[in-house]
Amino acid sequence: MYGIYIHVPFCIRKCPYCDFYSVASSEDLRKEYLLALRNQILSFDRVAADTVYFGGGTPSLLSPEEIAGIIALLRGRFDIEDGAEITMECNPATAGTAEFRGFLDAGVNRLSLGCQSFQEKTLRSLGRLHSADEAKTAVRDAREAGFANISVDLMLGIPFETPEIAERDALAAAELEVQHVSAYLLRICEGTPFAEGVPGIPDDDLQAECYRRFCGVMDAAGYRQYEISNFAVPGYESRHNLKYWQCGHWLGFGPGAHMSDSVRRHSFVPDIRSFIDAFRGGPVPDPLSLMKDEGTVDAEEYIITSLRTSSGLDAGVLQERFGSSLTSEQISFLARCRDAGLAETEGEHIRLTREGFLVSNSILSELI
Ligand code: SF4
Repeated sequence: MYGIYIHVPFCIRKCPYCDFYSVASSEDLRKEYLLALRNQILSFDRVAADTVYFGGGTPSLLSPEEIAGIIALLRGRFDIEDGAEITMECNPATAGTAEFRGFLDAGVNRLSLGCQSFQEKTLRSLGRLHSADEAKTAVRDAREAGFANISVDLMLGIPFETPEIAERDALAAAELEVQHVSAYLLRICEGTPFAEGVPGIPDDDLQAECYRRFCGVMDAAGYRQYEISNFAVPGYESRHNLKYWQCGHWLGFGPGAHMSDSVRRHSFVPDIRSFIDAFRGGPVPDPLSLMKDEGTVDAEEYIITSLRTSSGLDAGVLQERFGSSLTSEQISFLARCRDAGLAETEGEHIRLTREGFLVSNSILSELI
């Protein structure tokens, strides 16, 4: 079963830490993008899908009518399962109760709100457009509009963060009774203003303590950590994102979007003009030929992505799907991780513990 990702490459203003592909929106550019998107979608063969994900960029810069139009197009082109998870990312600065109602009526049934923090000082240091109160109000408005599946995105390792601030952010999310929380560690990306230097970034030990304290609050509030950076009320795990972590199948539409048939990956260059030029004339017979071949999905990728999840790596799947098994060196390295409390093994499953998650980059680079 496929997932479908739609990249909406527009933002009001670029956040200084962000390296996702996005440009400023205008009425004309949006129209051209929507037409090219339509033609790209119509270029692909019919598949069955059980998730749709509008990511960005800022999908909530599209109107409810535009989102409804894309969902109707997807339903016409693909076999979208009844009860499919249809997620839309939303910037709290761009929507209120009326827009949320519109998105719900359009067919979106899961909202992912990019709150990033519930503290004024940290929001300012991240250059966000919304205040802490506006972020909380957006969650309440979305619920009032009828959304029963709400996720908030938060960040850890942000300037001037302390374990107390991390704990307060986790508590605020829990008190808002959202069903899902993502908490990603700030990455300093090349080419962003933050890469030129940003004061107040906590050191590794402090970041580790922030992560532990954040996870502790999530545990106490009844969320289950099912991936390094993701927590859910049981039953509300992101079905779409699990496809990425389990090396599943998905189609990705729009500039910068990736897709995988679980054997090969392709992506479209992150450039809206090239995207519009490629698809402005109508559907094309061989859309993959316009995309970059990103290579095969291999055992290494499965090991890396599966060890990010709490269900971990399944040696049976590694053998069955990739005809591969762990080497004796890898097995003895993982045994040392287990003895150090960084990993657990159960039958054919190997998973990292929370302390293992904290040093997962080192574990994975040693393992691979
Ligand atoms: S963080 Fe989100 S809102 Fe900010 S520039 Fe990146 S995609 Fe746009």
